[in-house]
Amino acid sequence: MIDVHCHVDLYPKPAEVISEIARRGTYVLAVTTTPSAFEGNLKFVGDAKRIQVAAGLHPELVAQRAHEVDALCALLPRVKYVGEVGLDGSPDHRTFLPVQKEVLRRVFERAKELGGRVISLHSRMAATAVLDEIEAQRGLGLPVLHWFSGSQKELERAISLGCWFSVSPTMLASWRSRALLDRMPHDRLLIESDGPFGLLDGRAAKPWEAERAMPLIAKAWNMDDAVTTSRIKMNFQKLTAAANAMFSQP
Ligand code: MN
Repeated sequence: MIDVHCHVDLYPKPAEVISEIARRGTYVLAVTTTPSAFEGNLKFVGDAKRIQVAAGLHPELVAQRAHEVDALCALLPRVKYVGEVGLDGSPDHRTFLPVQKEVLRRVFERAKELGGRVISLHSRMAATAVLDEIEAQRGLGLPVLHWFSGSQKELERAISLGCWFSVSPTMLASWRSRALLDRMPHDRLLIESDGPFGLLDGRAAKPWEAERAMPLIAKAWNMDDAVTTSRIKMNFQKLTAAANAMFSQP
């Protein structure tokens, strides 16, 4: 099926994951954590048509790698998708929030100049700060909040700012996340594995396992499984169309 946030290059054996993705016909957005990993990802993804490689700079790495934002911005004209980028306000990273914000602003500005991009965003313990940046940079494209874990109030604000959401079966194991899911707009929801960081049954989730979120979504929305699945597929088509339209702007 679909996985819109997966670190394909970080599995112990990416080549095996890539051939299994092809065998199963899963559509995958391969996010990257540094711009220097981008070319390598393109190479090993090769001609796998269902895998799109996104260019990113993970907020947890910004403390050491802020200078790589130039390389990331230089990649943006070549990519339809940006990620993983965002802000991390957890105890280990929050002292670096000012530099994380500078990096994110640069990326958003560049995306805006290029007519917008689909951007997969990290916002752990920094939802309000991420939403402030999105609000300040209208026209950045289509922000997809991955593994959103903010408050209900922050969720309402994200919805009003036009954000999309991607949820994983791992995150939906918590009732708090399921309570957020109840309120997420049906026409802006996607699924992800966040593998190999997302864990299922005590091991790294695989991209084709993102669909294990589906029965949980169906339950939250009180809809039948087949209807829910076609809804998510339709959303993915909309996302792809938006990415293509922004990319082909002059
Ligand atoms: Mn991730």
